[in-house]
Amino acid sequence: MPDVTPAWQFASDNVSGICPEAWQSLEEANRDCVPSYGDDAWTERAADLLRETFETDCEVFFVFNGTAANSLALAACCQSYHSILCHELSHVETDECGAPEFFSNGTKLLLLPGANGKITPEGIETIARRRTDIHFPKPRVVSLTQTTEAGTVYSPGELLGIAHATRKLDLRLQMDGSRLANAVASLGVNPREVTWQAGVDVLCFGGSKNGLPLGEAVIFFDRALADEFEYRCKQAGQLASKMRFLSAPWIGLLENGAWLRHAAHANAMAALLEGRLRALPGVEFLFPREANGLFIRLPELVIAALRVRGWKFYTFIGSGGCRFMCSWATQPEDVEALATDIARAL
Ligand SMILES: *Cc1c(COP(=O)(O)O)cnc(C)c1O
Repeated sequence: MPDVTPAWQFASDNVSGICPEAWQSLEEANRDCVPSYGDDAWTERAADLLRETFETDCEVFFVFNGTAANSLALAACCQSYHSILCHELSHVETDECGAPEFFSNGTKLLLLPGANGKITPEGIETIARRRTDIHFPKPRVVSLTQTTEAGTVYSPGELLGIAHATRKLDLRLQMDGSRLANAVASLGVNPREVTWQAGVDVLCFGGSKNGLPLGEAVIFFDRALADEFEYRCKQAGQLASKMRFLSAPWIGLLENGAWLRHAAHANAMAALLEGRLRALPGVEFLFPREANGLFIRLPELVIAALRVRGWKFYTFIGSGGCRFMCSWATQPEDVEALATDIARAL
């Protein structure tokens, strides 16, 4: 057994293991033989639970990861001559190796600036109206991330503003919800209020970072967009033959609200870390802490000292910028240990 040191705890929320609820469903799904390729009762139950969670009759597909979910969902909204409007820090732009463009056969990403990782209705209008001639890729879909890549959360009002702009411009709205659970827990809203009731046509709902072994759900609230999506999944290598092992863990996660409890716990751990660090001089907060991630600027010497102590964390946010993510598995002792080491290093 490899030694899983707590030093990895804060590198990402996907370093965590499988939560007990998902593990139990997986174990139960392993007891007998069932039909393959998703024609099984586990997959049906998981999809039904997602419909219950969002309180609407949506189309549901299970894929292996977020890159596939985003790329295929966006491809379903676009023709190759269209464009996708997204934040310049968005995962679809910075972390998917061109997969959204690849799976949509060349659809172009148009980048929007915006404070705290958020796009705005004004930003959407500016880009969408900049060119309307045949020489420019026609804007077709807006992609936004909830919780954002900066760890911030769009309020229901902000989402409605964006939805209003997209409707006015005849654009579709896709949500990268790899951390939607953390946003729902943070806002204390009903999931439907920040998804289809806020104008989202297709949602990529994250499971991997919230306690699943792996997997994300692509949820079409606009069911017409899901037409032939199963072929897209199959062609992209995203149709699991033993689908129940991708779908069943969702049952444990959703059935008794574990998804929200785990997300709230992750948020609380980040809040605890924030509280410890607010008390220290020399820590600059880069974005408001609204969910399970904390973004701070530390002196380079402090970063080096933390690395020597074995802490793993990402510093892709520019000079001195450090990201610390908490997950369902993060424990208060881990937070205390990190905070203590940061205080010492300062
Ligand atoms: C983690 C993450 C994803 C999913 O990434 P994969 O590695 O492809 O599963 C998507 N969007 C955001 C914002 C993420 O942080």
